[in-house]
Amino acid sequence: MIVTRFAPSPTGRLHLGHVHAAKVARDLARSENGRFLLRFEDIDHTRSRPEYRTGIEEDLHWLGLDWDGVPIDQSQRTTAYAEALEQLQSGGLAYPCFCTRREIETEIGRMLHAPHGPEGALYPGTCRSLSPQRRKELLASGIAPAWRLDSARAAAICGDLTFQDLRFGRIPVTPQLLGDVVLARKDIGTSYHLAVVVDDAWQEITHVTRGEDLLPSTHVHRLLQTLLGLPAPQYLHHTLITDEKGVRLAKRHDSLSIATLREQKHTPAEILSMLPASGD
Ligand code: GLU
Repeated sequence: MIVTRFAPSPTGRLHLGHVHAAKVARDLARSENGRFLLRFEDIDHTRSRPEYRTGIEEDLHWLGLDWDGVPIDQSQRTTAYAEALEQLQSGGLAYPCFCTRREIETEIGRMLHAPHGPEGALYPGTCRSLSPQRRKELLASGIAPAWRLDSARAAAICGDLTFQDLRFGRIPVTPQLLGDVVLARKDIGTSYHLAVVVDDAWQEITHVTRGEDLLPSTHVHRLLQTLLGLPAPQYLHHTLITDEKGVRLAKRHDSLSIATLREQKHTPAEILSMLPASGD
């Protein structure tokens, strides 16, 4: 049975871009009598708010995009993320990183050939090569570290990987595409990458649908799934909705929030008709 999910962060009201994402997931599940689940990605407690969570549920319900079962909140799942992190730590696949943002920028500026990914410079690996002694000292000094994936080691362990995308076909994984990503932020103890992978497996998601801007992340996710012994879902990376200038919709596009469109007396059917076809 197909199981999909819509996984918004409750850091603002829903806009048309979110609705497209929700509808793609809902339609794929419904095409085969499957289940469509809802997950709130609220690990960032500084930006998530309960009123946005309620607003998202209300908007989805008003649009007729009802989900199955009880929504889950990532903020309630910290033990599962800590266990996954520990598994990676004990396999020597995660290392503590004590760098500040500014130190990372300075280091990148100093390097002649700083590693780059699709979205710019990658973490230059400063803390990867700390001696065990120095690492111990820093940990003992009480500085809270972030934890990063040792992507070279992960790549060596995982070998060749691929993922299947309903739009793009089979894609070979580039294990170091995003470099040594953060697995656990120092302030919240987890990260988008780790939490998504753990929860997609826990919720038994068979098809992960998300915007094509997140395609690079999927390379990391296949790696983490393999390292953690989790199943590989299929993917559908859908098109993004842009405004009339071709700029991707974001929370600042208040005029296209569902709350505003509702106030302007648009009907659910009108709003859904503004979206591209679900398979796009
Ligand atoms: N929370 C993510 C977002 O709002 C979605 C992540 C995902 O689908 O993997 O963009």
